[in-house]
Amino acid sequence: MDLGIAGKTAIVCAASKGLGRGCAESLAEAGVDLIINARTEGPLRQTAGEIAKKYGVKVTPVACDITTAKGQAMVLAACPNPDILVNNAGGPPPGMWSDWERDDFIKALDANMLTPIMLMKAVLPGMMERGWGRVVNITSQSVKAPIPVLGLSNAARAGLTGYVGGTSRQVAPNGVTINNLLPGIHATDRAESLDGAVRDAQGISIEQAREQRFATIPARRYGTADEFGAMCAFLCSQKAGFIVGQNILLDGGAVNSTM
Ligand code: NAP
Repeated sequence: MDLGIAGKTAIVCAASKGLGRGCAESLAEAGVDLIINARTEGPLRQTAGEIAKKYGVKVTPVACDITTAKGQAMVLAACPNPDILVNNAGGPPPGMWSDWERDDFIKALDANMLTPIMLMKAVLPGMMERGWGRVVNITSQSVKAPIPVLGLSNAARAGLTGYVGGTSRQVAPNGVTINNLLPGIHATDRAESLDGAVRDAQGISIEQAREQRFATIPARRYGTADEFGAMCAFLCSQKAGFIVGQNILLDGGAVNSTM
């Protein structure tokens, strides 16, 4: 399928590996030039080089923490007028509701709610003026089915979801769409470290920890960054102009609900 976005430019945040990289690769495959970001320069440069070589697009790496005002300014300086914005960052740490103080919430809200909101605020006017734009926010299945130990994430991502629900309807008349992608468990380093924690806590092998989690997913496996990226690229395509303000689960059926 021709996604119709060859020659456009995308900012993909937190994209040296995992789901962000999956999105960057699929956009590159569709012919989109990229500005990709992560905090650690070496792996980011390597990813940029690999994607540029594989797909023949221009890939500019910007090493910075996207959850800081300085990091956001650096990425926007490299690309003030993107056609596409994919918002992503690391998730807040797990814990207990009784442990979190105001500062913990402020940090989580900054990273997973206000960072994507500030980036949208910066790029939406240009997209609206040009009459075309796509924004995809990587959130989590926890928006639909809260994960108790991820209270900081549940709170911050729910806030972003509410913002997108309203704002997406305000910018849609100008040809700009904003949607959220909600990953269930995907085979990234994050899944590896969660399985490692279960192995250590239960004294079982990593394979057994994985099998336990597969059993909670109707598809009986983890998702891949490739599958995730393909959905992201579709949402960024010409074909997806009528999809506005949606929250799309990619979870192998793990969240058990009718809608
Ligand atoms: P990952 O494999 O650990 O990759 C994270 C990427 O983000 C890396 O490139 C990392 O590079 C970059 N990054 C992290 N914090 C950053 C920051 N502050 N500024 C810039 N770059 C940053 O993680 P993932 O599995 O792809 O997860 C991506 C997002 O999806 C997270 O918010 C996660 O909570 C959410 N999610 C994931 C899953 C899953 O199963 N994988 C499920 C639900 C939700 P540096 O470390 O070098 O910065």
